Amino acid sequence: MPPNDLYDIIVIGSGAAGLSFTYRLSQETSLGRMKILVVDPDKKVVNDRTWCFWANRPLWVDAIVYRRWDRLAFRSHFHHQNYDLGEFEYRMVRGIDFYRYTKEAINQNVNVHFVQGTASVVTDGEDQDLASVNVDGRTFQARWILKGAFLPSDFIPKPERYHYLTQHFQGWIIHTKSPQFDPKTFTMFDFRTPQMDAMRFIYVLPFTTHDALIEYTQFTKKPQTADAYDFALQAYIRDTLNITEYKVMETEAGGIPMTNHPFARKIGHRIMTIGTPGGLVKPSTGYAFHRILKDTEQIIQSLIRYDHPFAIQSPPRQYAFFDRIMLGVMERDGSKMEHIFSQMFRNNGIKRIFNFLDETDPLIHNLPLLLSVDPLPFISAVIRG
Ligand SMILES: Cc1cc2nc3c(=O)[nH]c(=O)nc-3n(C[C@H](O)[C@H](O)[C@H](O)COP(=O)(O)OP(=O)(O)OC[C@H]3O[C@@H](n4cnc5c(N)ncnc54)[C@H](O)[C@@H]3O)c2cc1C
Repeated sequence: MPPNDLYDIIVIGSGAAGLSFTYRLSQETSLGRMKILVVDPDKKVVNDRTWCFWANRPLWVDAIVYRRWDRLAFRSHFHHQNYDLGEFEYRMVRGIDFYRYTKEAINQNVNVHFVQGTASVVTDGEDQDLASVNVDGRTFQARWILKGAFLPSDFIPKPERYHYLTQHFQGWIIHTKSPQFDPKTFTMFDFRTPQMDAMRFIYVLPFTTHDALIEYTQFTKKPQTADAYDFALQAYIRDTLNITEYKVMETEAGGIPMTNHPFARKIGHRIMTIGTPGGLVKPSTGYAFHRILKDTEQIIQSLIRYDHPFAIQSPPRQYAFFDRIMLGVMERDGSKMEHIFSQMFRNNGIKRIFNFLDETDPLIHNLPLLLSVDPLPFISAVIRG
């Protein structure tokens, strides 16, 4: 093997996880001598997604935050309220800005190489051996491999044991003739759309008084037809927002897998999963971006302290249980979620809700939130498994 195919770390996938890790590593002077290879078939030159998340502290991605909101609106047939986010802020980062910003900074570091290709077989290395990855027939070796993409044989669903839903969404960026939106307030949930036995809501992210992303979202196994999404969006804009004069400027659609299927982190002596293959997508919400940023910091600290990436915290077990129960209710009784979320928002402050979703608090702090919603759907989900 030519020596230029030997690396300290190979990162498979230059998405949110792969690029945030490589970017952060390239900023750490103590790790600056490491030789890194990043593998991805995609050059990441289009805006293939937009990430939103809440945070209560500065983050390095703030340099590329596209929009931020400090008020949240909740709307349903049972509850209607606007909330100040207090110490939190809801932020949006566009994929294209993230890819450009991180790659530009990484490219200042001569020890990071990008190869455009598809990783297929990843082989672990024991003891003194290195791990290796095959990229379109060429083999690269490294001390550590961070695997941020699923390879074909990686994922075998077990529907008899775990829940599998997808957060399907289709959105329109609209421009209205008259001022219609408050650019400081985003709507996280508007359940005033037919639920049809599943959890369905609309998300409204205003950019200006005249421009907003209106996104129809459903937690289901299968998507609807494109026509059905268009119909639901039209009906919502016309009948609920009472907007009649507008133009659709852009459209976006996507799906985020939501499952409690377990994803191991250390999958060999020298291989670790990151991002989605590492289970970083929160099963009951589909949020992953901020979790990936936090995970990246732990991996960097592990490399600095121990010269390996594995010293990261395991997620608290109680939250895996909550996620399983929530997914169970969403899968079998999805239309009950409007009522459950209404109770949650009516009876709790934003800080408690965000901390619960961020998995930061011990169980005792979550008791008031858990006791604030009707227990019956959850008891039923526990019994049905
Ligand atoms: C459309 C969309 C919108 C989302 N919005 C939000 C949001 O608002 N907030 C939030 O918190 N989360 C959101 N998510 C969920 C999650 O944050 C994203 O999916 C995030 O991009 C996950 O990061 P990742 O690194 O795991 O995967 P990705 O960012 O998808 O990166 C994986 C990379 O691996 C590459 N790859 C695939 N196969 C191979 C291979 N064989 N070899 C090498 N490379 C390979 C891919 O080309 C890709 O670049 C969204 C997801 C989607 C799909």
